[in-house]
Amino acid sequence: MRPPALIAATMVLTTVAAAGAAAPAWAEPAEPPKKPVAVGYGGAVSTVDGTATAVGLDVLRRGGNAVDAAVAAAATLGVTEPFSAGIGGGGFFVYYDTRTGRVQTIDGREAAPASTTETIFVDPATGQPYPFDEARISGLSVGVPGTLLTWRDALDRWGTRSLAQMLRPAARVAEAGFTVDETFAGQIAENQAAFGQFSSTSELYLPRGRPPAVGATFRNPDLASTYRLIAGRGTDVFYRGEVGRDVVATVQRPPVAEQPAASWPYPIRPAGMTSADLAGYRTRFPAPTRSDYRGFEVYGMATPSSGGTAVGEALNILERFDLRSMTATQAMHHYLEASALAFADRNRYVGDHTPRQVLRELLSDGYAAERACRIDSAAALPKPVAPGVPDGAYGGCPAATVADTRDDRTGTTNLTVADRWGNVVEYTLTIEATGGNGMVVPDRGFLLNNELTDFNFTPTQGTAPDPNLPGPGKRPRSSMSPTIVLTDGRPFLAVGTPGGATIITTVLQTLVNRIDLGMALPEALAAPRASQRNGAATQAEPAFVAAYADGLPPGHVLTPTTELGAATGIEFLRDGRMVAVAEPERRGGGAAAVLGRWPRH
Ligand code: GLU
Repeated sequence: MRPPALIAATMVLTTVAAAGAAAPAWAEPAEPPKKPVAVGYGGAVSTVDGTATAVGLDVLRRGGNAVDAAVAAAATLGVTEPFSAGIGGGGFFVYYDTRTGRVQTIDGREAAPASTTETIFVDPATGQPYPFDEARISGLSVGVPGTLLTWRDALDRWGTRSLAQMLRPAARVAEAGFTVDETFAGQIAENQAAFGQFSSTSELYLPRGRPPAVGATFRNPDLASTYRLIAGRGTDVFYRGEVGRDVVATVQRPPVAEQPAASWPYPIRPAGMTSADLAGYRTRFPAPTRSDYRGFEVYGMATPSSGGTAVGEALNILERFDLRSMTATQAMHHYLEASALAFADRNRYVGDHTPRQVLRELLSDGYAAERACRIDSAAALPKPVAPGVPDGAYGGCPAATVADTRDDRTGTTNLTVADRWGNVVEYTLTIEATGGNGMVVPDRGFLLNNELTDFNFTPTQGTAPDPNLPGPGKRPRSSMSPTIVLTDGRPFLAVGTPGGATIITTVLQTLVNRIDLGMALPEALAAPRASQRNGAATQAEPAFVAAYADGLPPGHVLTPTTELGAATGIEFLRDGRMVAVAEPERRGGGAAAVLGRWPRH
């Protein structure tokens, strides 16, 4: 007999696969059910979206590996989560290969066009930086997309299926449609004024001048055609062909509506991305960051993401303390302080061009010891704390000066996949803000990113150099932190999340919850979150405030925030089972699934 979960998954997948034909009567409900936790064998997928998870699982069921399934699921997220990710954006792909035992990464971060100057986000008329939304809803914010080449390169290096094959299920979903949920409608509603400025975006996402109704079927035939065009002709059609020409035209001449549906307080500025910028884009394959934490090997994303170094440095600081013997409140105090210290260093030192030597020092145990000595168990450090000096000469407790903080918005999505052979993918992809730069490329069905607003608009480090100012070809600093943790060289868990700069703290807190506080992964991921990024206040979910506000040492200021992140993860149990985990509540809840309930023999 087939396990019931497999039957359910197969029904769902048949629905997705058969989309386009009339839905068979038994295929209710049309959308796959969302489950936050699934335990079993043979492969696992976790994403924020039921359809994307079902597509990934189907690839695994048909014998594809984790990389194949990750690409198919990501392409589907480009359809069902288009305000967070898609071929108009970029991301970071982390891969554990069971054959070699190595963790490798792909940097598919967007790159600034060759014409970019350090002052692109400074208004020449006033000498002042543009307000965020003026910069975002413009051609200036668009980086050369890296997502499609990430998919191609991941498949070429480690996959077993072609890009064309892995785009097909997503094309079918785009064509047949999916049910609009509250998150999808809400993300359009929050962007209504910006989307309304552009004819292409209004046509797709504001039919009859409004977001589509919750429960309606949403179709994106233009995106289906774009995916099929790429499937037929390869990535060149994007990087050297007609899709790319349309991207460039959109950046150079934004498709502003003749009569915008709503008013917008800023001019819509064009920018100078060219076909040569697209043709010149390359993915990179940096070595992952590594930090050893209480016997686990934690692998993360190197620059231009600050995720790997910031999570790794904070873990190295925390390793100086016996969190297990502390109360949960004291452990959270140390977590918040370690995070603030790591953020001070990230802001001062980490950007696309940070010398390797500096990155190595930031992750050294000697440096962590110097930073850890600043933490006082009886009081929170006044924020912002100063960055340290990762120069290789450590000792003492250097005093504070002032540093900055600057936060980015939150969009983005994340997925985790493992296959029956033991390969693991942790992949975070984004178009930066929810809704990217607001411009759908006319007739192509996808939004462009606003990733270049992840650069600092003006210097933030006083007299010290700012590592994250714009520059030609440069990639803006990210916080994305797809993380794979090994123990004795074998996967222990993988985790990642969206959330702008809070990504770093959510991944860090989840690791502390799992490794130090003894929570199982589902609990570690669901637990209330707080994010201290070297600001005067710590953002905290209401349940975190309720649990810890009274017990934390003096000096912590908690600012309630509805929710932080939308993580996914997989833990690998010693008996061979996989525990796939998604959010039970945040962002409407995610979708975790496993291939089978019983081991195969
Ligand atoms: N653009 C952000 C980054 O790369 C991610 C935005 C988000 O997660 O919402 O760090």
